[in-house]
Amino acid sequence: MDHFHERFGELHAEDVPLTAIAEAVGTPVYVYAEATIVRHFRVFRQALEAAGIDRPLVAYAVKANPNLSVLAALAREGAGADVVSEGELHRALAAGVPPGRILFSGVGKTQAEMAAALQAGILQINVESEEELAELSQVATALGRRAPVALRVNPDVDARTNPKIATGRGEAKFGIPRDRILAAWAQAEALPSLAPTGLAVHVGSQLTDLAPFAAAIRVMGELLAALRSAGHAVRRVDLGGGLGIPYDPSLPAPPTPADYARLVAQATAGWGVELAFEPGRLVVGNAGVLLSRVVRVKRGATRTFVVLDAAMNDLIRPTLYGVFHHIRAVRPRPGVVNATFVGPVCETGDTFAEDRATTPLEPGDLVALMTAGAYGATMASTYNSRPLVPEVLVRGDRWALVRPRLTPAELAAHERLAPWLAEAP
Ligand SMILES: *Cc1c(COP(=O)(O)O)cnc(C)c1O
Repeated sequence: MDHFHERFGELHAEDVPLTAIAEAVGTPVYVYAEATIVRHFRVFRQALEAAGIDRPLVAYAVKANPNLSVLAALAREGAGADVVSEGELHRALAAGVPPGRILFSGVGKTQAEMAAALQAGILQINVESEEELAELSQVATALGRRAPVALRVNPDVDARTNPKIATGRGEAKFGIPRDRILAAWAQAEALPSLAPTGLAVHVGSQLTDLAPFAAAIRVMGELLAALRSAGHAVRRVDLGGGLGIPYDPSLPAPPTPADYARLVAQATAGWGVELAFEPGRLVVGNAGVLLSRVVRVKRGATRTFVVLDAAMNDLIRPTLYGVFHHIRAVRPRPGVVNATFVGPVCETGDTFAEDRATTPLEPGDLVALMTAGAYGATMASTYNSRPLVPEVLVRGDRWALVRPRLTPAELAAHERLAPWLAEAP
C-alpha cells in the first residue's frame, strides 16, 4: 500500500503531480509520501499491539532512510531509532527521537562512537562481540557511566534472502555465537560499568518467509531460559528488522505485519520481557520513488535502451543486489514495448531493468522507479561527479525540498588542493 497513484492520467505523490516536482526541482529526485511512511509505521506497531504484545518499542532502522524530515515524521509518531554510527545517532537526536528510545547496533563501533552513545544516554547498546564488551567497559568507566547492554546473538539461521543482506548465518560477522552467550553475559556482569539488560537478534533484510524469524525467535527463547536458570535478569529482547516488502507486482506478496505479529506473539508468549523491533525497509520502502527523466531512446545492436538521467550512483540496488524495481511512466502512453533501462554512468552495471515491458517512452518523458524509499538515497554517491540526488517530502498537497541538489561547484568546494599543487609549477 502506498500513496503513489495515477490521477487524470498522471502519477501523483499523495495530491501532488510528480511533473510539478520535476519541473521545480529538476531530475533525478527522490520523492517521499509522508502519509505512506506514517501509515506503515502505524500498521506495524498496531499489528504488534493487536496480537497482544504489550508496549513494543519500535525503533526505526535509520540506515534505511536517514533523511532528517523522514526521521522527524517518525519521531512524531513515537518511533525509536536503531542507529549504527555516530552520524545516525546525531541525526536521530537532531530529528527529535528521545535518547531513551535509541538502540545502537553494529560490529565496528569505535570507542568514540561508544562514548557518544553513552553521553547521549541512549537506551541500549547492542554489543556484537566479547572484545567489544571489554572495550565498552573501559569507555564507560572512563566516562563514569553505566552502559546498558544487550548481547546480539548470532543465531546461525539462514534468512533465505539475498546473501549480501543475510546476517544471521553462523559464518556471518554479526553477533556473538549462540553457544557463547551465557559466558558473554557472565563476562558483562563481571566487567565494571556494564549493565547487561537484554538480547538482540537480526537475521537479515527483505525476508519473504516467516520461517527464519521463527527459527531465530526459538533460539532467543532457549537462550532466555538458559540465562534465567543461571540466575541472570533479562528484561528486553530486540528482534531486529527484516520483514520484506513487495517490489515486483507480479510476485506473491510477502507476509504482512499482521502475519509477523501473530508469529512473534505466539512464539514469545510468557517471556515476560519488553520486546523491541527494528523495521527499516518496511516503514519507508514503498514510501519513496526515484523520479527520473528519459534523456534519450537509443536503438542498440540487439535491443532498445531507454537512457535515464538517474544512474547507479543515485539508486545502486539493481547494480549491487541484482534486484527488481518496478518502473512506471508518469504520463503513460497507450501500448506496450520492450526496453532496457540504463543510466548515463560509464559502467555496464548501470542498468535498472533489462528487457522490461513498458508503455512507450520518448525523450523528455518522466518515469518513477518505484519502491525506492529504503536503501535508495542513503546509498547514493557522487560517482562520475554527479551531484548527490536531492530529496522531496510530500504531505497532502504540500511538498518541500528536504535535501537540495548540490551544484558541481559546491561538490568540488569540499575538496582542497594539496599545497604543492596550489603553487605555480
Ligand atoms: C539493517 C538492519 C535493520 C533493518 O532491516 P530492514 O530489513 O530494513 O528492516 C535492523 N536491525 C539491524 C541490526 C540492521 O542491521
